Amino acid sequence: MRPHLLLLGGTTEARALALRLAARTDLTVTLSLAGRTLNPAAMPVPVRSGGFGGAEGLEAYLRAHGVTALLDATHPYAARISANAALAARRAGVPLLVLHRLAWVAEPGDDWRPVADVAAACAALGHAPRRVFLALGRQEVAGFAAAPQHRYLIRSVDPITPPPPMPRVTCLTARGPFTLADEEALLDAHGIEAIVCKNSGGAASFAKLVAARARRLPVFLLDRPALPEAPRVATVESALDWLDHVLSRRAV
Ligand code: NAP
Repeated sequence: MRPHLLLLGGTTEARALALRLAARTDLTVTLSLAGRTLNPAAMPVPVRSGGFGGAEGLEAYLRAHGVTALLDATHPYAARISANAALAARRAGVPLLVLHRLAWVAEPGDDWRPVADVAAACAALGHAPRRVFLALGRQEVAGFAAAPQHRYLIRSVDPITPPPPMPRVTCLTARGPFTLADEEALLDAHGIEAIVCKNSGGAASFAKLVAARARRLPVFLLDRPALPEAPRVATVESALDWLDHVLSRRAV
């Protein structure tokens, strides 16, 4: 039986890995998505979609589908699935690698203000009304109901349902990557005075921070969640090397 790689995705890196692995005849690849995006991009390998049912469900999946290697290429803020992957892989005795995108690092001119979570971001924005760009996922925006005095611009891949509970909100749907010209035009058109976002790393959503630097805007960055103990790399190339190493050991 061919070895079976389960690739936990939802990221640019997972798609890049799938593209690199699609033509391999020595390997079965299954890409797993959380299933939250309404129209996910087409993938070059078979896809399964939706939660596994916690660590136990993922462990059962690994056993039932004869998974020989687990590659966690989920988003750096997708802490639950990464914790579940570490636990399930350990219990099922399946080798695990985490492909963890490096965080952005501030440069001269940046005004980045780390915040622990959405509640801390609300507090840090202050009492005076501001025009705030929330470059966050659907799951986080509802927490800004605690700071209803601001005017919010929210950009998400899919429409936010139910609509955000704050009284002054403009919602846009758009899928990255975003260029610097896109982000400058957006910030200027809406008179943005502050940004709240994640330190996602990578190129696709970095331009807003360059645009913010030029405008000397404060950027409130949600802290990254802690990662579980597991071997980790930062690039697609290193993940492919790991996979070949796991497969070669299995063949011995
Ligand atoms: P999460 O909080 O780590 O995951 C919540 C649950 O969703 C998991 O316990 C799992 O359900 C399911 N899940 C997540 N990723 C999965 C995958 N690849 N395959 C199958 N099931 C998966 O992650 P999240 O809710 O997706 O997102 C948390 C943060 O990451 C948010 O800030 C979000 O904006 C950001 N983010 C996530 C993705 C993504 O594709 N996951 C992409 C971009 C940004 P079960 O416990 O039932 O298995």
